[in-house]
Amino acid sequence: MKTRITELLGIQHPIVQGGMQWVGLAELASAVSNAGGLGVVTALTQPTPEDLLKEIERCQSMTDKPFGVNLTILPTIKPVPYDEYAQAIVDSGVKIVETAGRNPEPYLPMFKEAGIKVIHKCTSLRHSLKAEKIGCDAVSVDGFECAGHPGEDDVTNMILLPLAAKRLKIPFLASGGLGDGRGLAAALAMGADGINMGTRFMVTKEAPIHDNVKRRMIEATELDTQLIYRSFRNTARVFKNSVAEKVAEIESRPGETKFEDIQSLVQGVKGRELFDGGDLDKGIWSAGMIVGLIDDNPSCKELVERIVAQAEDILSNRLGGMLSS
Ligand code: NAD
Repeated sequence: MKTRITELLGIQHPIVQGGMQWVGLAELASAVSNAGGLGVVTALTQPTPEDLLKEIERCQSMTDKPFGVNLTILPTIKPVPYDEYAQAIVDSGVKIVETAGRNPEPYLPMFKEAGIKVIHKCTSLRHSLKAEKIGCDAVSVDGFECAGHPGEDDVTNMILLPLAAKRLKIPFLASGGLGDGRGLAAALAMGADGINMGTRFMVTKEAPIHDNVKRRMIEATELDTQLIYRSFRNTARVFKNSVAEKVAEIESRPGETKFEDIQSLVQGVKGRELFDGGDLDKGIWSAGMIVGLIDDNPSCKELVERIVAQAEDILSNRLGGMLSS
């Protein structure tokens, strides 16, 4: 498939891996890129900008295909030296960055000067238009189905994608609720130039997380996610385990919830321990509604090829067949 996204990023298939905290290590990013998609290393998963530079070098040694780096700018428990992470990305020679969270405008001049293509993740049309206006090369339009931070508007991709197609001039990815060939074909039909998948790539052989997590996600249904942090206007969709339910229960109590009331439950470091050790109630982990459609643990190559083949079959046979008399 050739789309504006495959052309812009220099990749074979219009499939981009989401920038996932604790999951976007070189193993996964290189596997996705080697499969013909775009792998993404997550900047803040590395404890320091120097570690990020090393992780990018490790990924460069594992693939000669393009890959990107995700830089998420959202509230954190400990302050993050974002400027230094951005500089490490420039120094690494990587040519694609996915920004998420706050407006990436302050970093655009340094990224542009380094010849870096910037994809900004947006949960609304207005943010997407703003990203286009400030000079981003593409946006990743993130519907309410998505894992992690869906924003506060709660608009699903059935609405967001056609809206983006009507109003945006730059290429865009559909993000949230994508994980199979039906999703890819539908996203292309609604005007997107490719898809961004996070949760689906968590359940692959190369994803660096414990098998217990992958097994639980295979068992899960579409009802197994939970929205938290609504009261802080920093909504996140996470897997529905006992910790997520506890956080939601604390937030639903009368009166204002303070972040300190839930901090010990949600701290990212516990999520990392959960991914490493496989204790499913150690902390929280991001997951999208697509968990309901995941039922195996393939390699990234098997997954990407299967999605593309299914989408091609739908486009040429099922839909094409409807047009032939
Ligand atoms: P962390 O341990 O600093 O914080 C844990 C969670 O609490 C994060 O989701 C953070 O946004 C939230 N948080 C922190 N301080 C807050 C405050 N004062 N008010 C409201 N919410 C607050 O973060 P981490 O788990 O190490 O993650 C690092 C970064 O990656 C954060 O910016 C986080 O939002 C982001 N992240 C993104 C995704 C995603 O969907 N791509 C998933 C997990 C984390």
